Amino acid sequence: MDKEKNMNNKKNANKPDSRLDCDVVIVGCGVGGLYSALNLDHSKKILMLSKDAVDICDSMLAQGGICVLHDEGDYDAFFEDTLRAGHYENRKESVDIMIRSSRDVINDLISKGVEFERDEKGELTYTKEGAHSIPRICFHEDITGKEITTKLLANVRKLDNVSIMEYTCMTDLLEDETGRICGVLAEKDNSSIEIYAGDVIFATGGIGGQYAYSTNYRILTGDGCRIASDHGAELEHMDYVQIHPTCLYRKKKGRNFLISESARGEGAIILNHKGERFVDELLPRDVVTEAIRKEMEKEGVEYEFLSFENVPDEVIRNHFPHICETCLEDGYDIFREPVPIVPAQHYFMGGIHVDSNSETTLPHLYAVGETSCNGVHGKNRLASNSLLESLVFAARAAKKINSEEVV
Ligand SMILES: Cc1cc2nc3c(=O)[nH]c(=O)nc-3n(C[C@H](O)[C@H](O)[C@H](O)COP(=O)(O)OP(=O)(O)OC[C@H]3O[C@@H](n4cnc5c(N)ncnc54)[C@H](O)[C@@H]3O)c2cc1C
Repeated sequence: MDKEKNMNNKKNANKPDSRLDCDVVIVGCGVGGLYSALNLDHSKKILMLSKDAVDICDSMLAQGGICVLHDEGDYDAFFEDTLRAGHYENRKESVDIMIRSSRDVINDLISKGVEFERDEKGELTYTKEGAHSIPRICFHEDITGKEITTKLLANVRKLDNVSIMEYTCMTDLLEDETGRICGVLAEKDNSSIEIYAGDVIFATGGIGGQYAYSTNYRILTGDGCRIASDHGAELEHMDYVQIHPTCLYRKKKGRNFLISESARGEGAIILNHKGERFVDELLPRDVVTEAIRKEMEKEGVEYEFLSFENVPDEVIRNHFPHICETCLEDGYDIFREPVPIVPAQHYFMGGIHVDSNSETTLPHLYAVGETSCNGVHGKNRLASNSLLESLVFAARAAKKINSEEVV
């Protein structure tokens, strides 16, 4: 570690091509980064970095939806569902904060223009996914992440105090002579930029780019964890990686297309090559993944099947139009035939250790979203808890930096 740190300091000592100054630099433009920016004081000068184009982030890919406390009577069940999925390794304080904050977050998203599915009376409609005891997931067709992220981005773009730098890769943290974090080093168009800031927020997303098969964008390679650790930040549960059971089987390498768990919530079933069911589709993801792997091994095959035969055509048309379209592009008509599926890396429960205000163990460095570990998910994430968790704890990071009281 010391050797690496010395190397970082040497790298920092090289003269940069340019220098920028701001109050807060946010590395990442997914929901974690965007919601941090929206909740920071508008008097602060904020710079946001995106490694690729601003819309290349996993937040844009989220399909199934976002959890919310259905009503006050749902608290115990939501809490228990989250803990059971997480093998009871969750940090209970964080789970409590997430659940208690969920309705305010959904209302805030709606006030920012996010549209969720509603019934004919105009009330929110809720769907269900694996390991949820009741339907408590708000959704927008099967592109909930795109709907939320696009609207948050539009709100951020209206702010005069926030600038977004695309195709700009953070390569290191900056420390002052006392060792205090004071900004980041970044690269854009082969030039290096020192960005000095009072506070730094890492919202750098997951680690799927490190895997041959993953549902994540390839650019997401765990940069935040690596760089924070190089400077001595504590990491947590780096081996807690979620594999999603139902990704479209494709021979070619690259990002795997996910078939949302809400498809199973609406009745889709998993079949082997003999057309037989072999697992309860609504068990937690790790359990379903394990059952599929075992069945693949038993049958000596590279994939099993997901069948929509029990899902009404109208539900497929209204709730899963994009899944339907993508499967069709690959030659599978989900109205008529089962699609081949295989498990793939999907989500990272571990990350940079943070407290309930998203502060890392390094003063002035915060981490939010998938790169952080606040303990909400324990050993295995409950479906549709990650967008919510990212938003709740991004707002808390911002409020802490604003010096607002965080309850
Ligand atoms: C296919 C799919 C479906 C999903 N469905 C759901 C769902 O239905 N419900 C749910 O709750 N969750 C879902 N998830 C998980 C959820 O989308 C993510 O956990 C969440 O969006 C992560 O948000 P984030 O802000 O942490 O990261 P991201 O949205 O991935 O953003 C990461 C950002 O960090 C930037 N970045 C990374 N490294 C650097 C660097 N070195 N320098 C500069 N910038 C950098 C990237 O450019 C990007 O802007 C899904 C995930 C996938 C992949």
